[in-house]
Amino acid sequence: MAHFDVHLRGGLVLLPDQPEPVAAEIGIIAGQIAAIAPELTDPAAATLDASGLVILPGGVDAHVHFNEPGRSAWEGWATGTRALAAGGVTCCIEMPLNASPPTLDAASLHAKLATARASAYVDFALWGGLTPTNLDRLDELAAGGVIGFKAFMCDSGISDFQAADEATLHTGMRHAARLGMPVAVHAEDEAIVSQLTAQARAEGATSIRAYLASRPIHAEQEAIHTAARLAQETGCRLHVVHVSSGQGVQAVLAAQARGVDISCETCPHYLVLTDADVEQLGALAKCAPPIRSAAVQAELWAYLADGRLPMVASDHSPAPPDMKTAPDFFAVWGGISGCQATLPLLLDAGYHQRGIPLATLARAWATYPAQRFGLGQRKGQIAIGYDADLVLVDLAAQTTVQASNLFYRHPHSPYLGRTLRGVVVQTLVRGVVVYQRGQIVGQGGWGVWVAGG
Ligand SMILES: [Zn+2]
Repeated sequence: MAHFDVHLRGGLVLLPDQPEPVAAEIGIIAGQIAAIAPELTDPAAATLDASGLVILPGGVDAHVHFNEPGRSAWEGWATGTRALAAGGVTCCIEMPLNASPPTLDAASLHAKLATARASAYVDFALWGGLTPTNLDRLDELAAGGVIGFKAFMCDSGISDFQAADEATLHTGMRHAARLGMPVAVHAEDEAIVSQLTAQARAEGATSIRAYLASRPIHAEQEAIHTAARLAQETGCRLHVVHVSSGQGVQAVLAAQARGVDISCETCPHYLVLTDADVEQLGALAKCAPPIRSAAVQAELWAYLADGRLPMVASDHSPAPPDMKTAPDFFAVWGGISGCQATLPLLLDAGYHQRGIPLATLARAWATYPAQRFGLGQRKGQIAIGYDADLVLVDLAAQTTVQASNLFYRHPHSPYLGRTLRGVVVQTLVRGVVVYQRGQIVGQGGWGVWVAGG
């Protein structure tokens, strides 16, 4: 007879390959799911009652920026992962920028790992960077345990993380293919964006509309075509971060049809905000590629609903409020704080408003990102032998996003004042409750590193 550490009972559980949650009990031993059955009778050290709640796999957010070490005034591993825990995310993959130094070699990787290990409330993996300055460091980053390499195809906005031109991308992808690792790209065509930006600036443009127009959808499409061609030439696995448009998704699908091993993600802000919202919200909703029209947003929902857009990641990219105040919208620092809101937004706008099944949303929010980035042996689904990373949600309850409920270093959000149906009640990381009804109850340093390779 098993002896569970935790016996989770009373809830409806979303199991792999089931369209809807079903009544089931979960037994947890040593942080892993040891049993799933309609009823478990073995003894347990602790029992958690999930009556009235739905149990989903904890989120795997493949795109966050915590900026520590070096820019911890922007965010930090403790504050960022507390926000993740409150949002039901149990594992993140953190980006090589905008920490200082950025994660471009073994030394900077070790510095980030030390910080993350000391502070994280949830588990984490790390992206390394791919820039013109560190092509000779990809091997050591891979050996050090990154899960892949992130490159910018346009100006990153920060001088210590240079954009990868075509030659750099080609060389980097060749290395990555040899190492068996994916390359992730910020896909906006540098030539198109810089030319339109220069033109707008020459005309004295400073408005939100002018900024949105300077980064058109065809710049995204063009960059995806380029990256996909390079991936095909090099045999590299390619991932396109924060796709903002249906045409961007189509460019990914077209490459897939040609045999390119390519995936993409979109972000909650593209799914729930429109260009009209950006005009109202201003700096809080500035990002690149920018937020598009309601019609484009509808295309993204359609692709998400039919599974062809397989991943949602937050691109949580915070900055201090004083970097968000310039009257010139081009000069305002870009990046949206959002990693605490992903699941509530998907439940409200996806499940409740659009009737997208929980199974589809859970695949995009947990299962697929885990599988795509090599974490799929232990993360992303509720199955025996997997880490007991679980989020308990009350689908019927609702909450209004308020600054006082946000765990970010700077509690700003473009979603303040929104009432969302579907509330995160409890989050478990490897069988331990880290968040419960508005309170962080876990410990910094509980999160463990999940190495790639
Ligand atoms: Zn990002």
